[in-house]
Amino acid sequence: MPTTFITGGTVVSATGRTAADILVDGERIAALLEPGSTVLGTDLARTADTVIDATGKYVVPGGIDAHTHMSMPFGGTTASDDFETGTRAAAWGGTTTIIDFAVQKFGERLQDSLATWHEMAAGQCAIDYGFHQIVGDVNDASLQALRGLPDEGITSYKLFMAYPGVFYSDDAQILRAMQTGASTGLMTMMHAENGPAIDVLVGQLLEQGKTDPYYHGIARAWQLEEEATHRAIMLADLTGAPLYVVHVSAKQAVAQVASARDRGRNVFGETCPQYLYLSLEEQLGAPGFEGAKWVCSTPLRSRAEHHQDHMWQALRTNDIQMVATDHCPFCMKGQKDMGVGDFSKIPNGIGSVEHRMDLMYQGVVEGRISLERWVEITSTTPARMFGLYGRKGVLAPGADADVVIYDPNGHTSIGLGKTHHMNMDHSAWEGFEIDGHVDTVLSRGKVVVDAGEYLGRKGDGRFVRRDPCQYLI
Ligand SMILES: [Zn+2]
Repeated sequence: MPTTFITGGTVVSATGRTAADILVDGERIAALLEPGSTVLGTDLARTADTVIDATGKYVVPGGIDAHTHMSMPFGGTTASDDFETGTRAAAWGGTTTIIDFAVQKFGERLQDSLATWHEMAAGQCAIDYGFHQIVGDVNDASLQALRGLPDEGITSYKLFMAYPGVFYSDDAQILRAMQTGASTGLMTMMHAENGPAIDVLVGQLLEQGKTDPYYHGIARAWQLEEEATHRAIMLADLTGAPLYVVHVSAKQAVAQVASARDRGRNVFGETCPQYLYLSLEEQLGAPGFEGAKWVCSTPLRSRAEHHQDHMWQALRTNDIQMVATDHCPFCMKGQKDMGVGDFSKIPNGIGSVEHRMDLMYQGVVEGRISLERWVEITSTTPARMFGLYGRKGVLAPGADADVVIYDPNGHTSIGLGKTHHMNMDHSAWEGFEIDGHVDTVLSRGKVVVDAGEYLGRKGDGRFVRRDPCQYLI
C-alpha cells in the first residue's frame, strides 16, 4: 500500500503536543516516530511514496463535525449544500468526518427516512460520514425502529421540543422515546426550545408589525431555551437516558447542563461557532433584511447579556463539551428572502462547515482555550461522544489517517462569495480574518487538500458505522 511520511511537525492531541513524524500506510496510521528515527534501517523521508514537510506546523486529527444538515428540507425549501458540495467544503476546512441527520418526517416510516438519506449520500461525499436519526413522529412503530438503529451503525437519535406541527415531540413522546433510547443504548440528542410558547410570541410580534429578522431572536427568548433544557434534563434523569443538548446558545441553558453534570448525570452540551462570535444586536439586528443571513435556531444571543463570553468560558471549563456547526445553509436569493416581511418564513440555518476549525483556532490565538483543547472540542470529544474514537479523533497507530496540517503562521481571509466553497450566495462569516491556515488534509490516507488545491473526489468518503457513546460517566 502507498506510504506517506509526515515529517517535522508538532503533533497535537487532546492531552499534549510533541515533535513527531507520522508514517501512514494505506488508509491508516502505521506509526508515530521520534523525529529523525529510522525504521529497520530505512530512512522514511527517502523511501515513503509521499513525503509531507510539516516543519513549523501543527499536525492534528481531522475535524469531526457532528452536526450538519446537507440537503435538509426546511420551511418549504432545502439546504443549499448537498452531500457533494458540503463535504467538499468541509474537507477544505480541515474536517474529515461529518455526522449528518436522517430526517423522519411526520407520517413517514423511520426506516424509509434512513434509506432515503443513505441514497442521497452514497457515492457523493468527499470525506467520511455517519448519521444520527431524527425522529419526527414518535409512535409505536418508530420506537420499535429505534431499537434497530445500533445494528445500522447509528447510535444516536434526535428529538425536537420546537417546531410544532413539523418535528415537534410533546413531553409524553419525549418520555417514551427516552425510555426506548435508554434501554437500547442510544444517545438522545435534543433541540431544546419551548416551541409552542415560541409560536405564540411569533404570532404576537407579527401582529404588532414586528417582521424584521431581529424579532426571530426576540421570539426565541432565552427563557424558552433554559426551560426546555431543564425539562429535557429532568426527563433524561427520570428515564436514565444519556442526553446531548444540541446548539446550546443561552448562558442560562449552559448553567442547566453544568448543574446536571455536577450532579453526575450523563448530560452533554454542544455549542456552535455562531454562539461564540455573533450576536442578536450586531448580526440579527443588521439593517433591512440583512439579518436574515443569521437566522438560525437556537438564535444568536445578546452581546449586552454576555452570552458569548460565558460560552467561551464554558468551553474552557468543560461545562460545554464540544463544538459542531449545525451547518444548514440557505441562499439569500430564493431561500432566505421567502421571509421578507415575515421573519417566521426565513429558513433557519447558517453555513459554517468549512470554517469551524479556523474559527475555533482563534480561541487559541486569543488565549481563550489551549491548543490541546482546540483538538479536543473539534475532533477528540466528537469522536468519543458518537462512538468513533480510536478510528477517528486521534493520531495513533491503527487509527484512520485523517490528518490536518495546520499552519499557525498562515492566514485565512473569509471574504465575499466565492472565497469559500460552500454552496451559498453569501457568507455568515464575511470579513473574518483568521490567524492560521489549513495547509494539507488527508482523508483515510489520501491527500484531499494541499497547497490551495482540492485533490479529492466525490465518493472518496464512506459511511462510518458508529459504536455507542464512549464518553458516559
Ligand atoms: Zn440542527
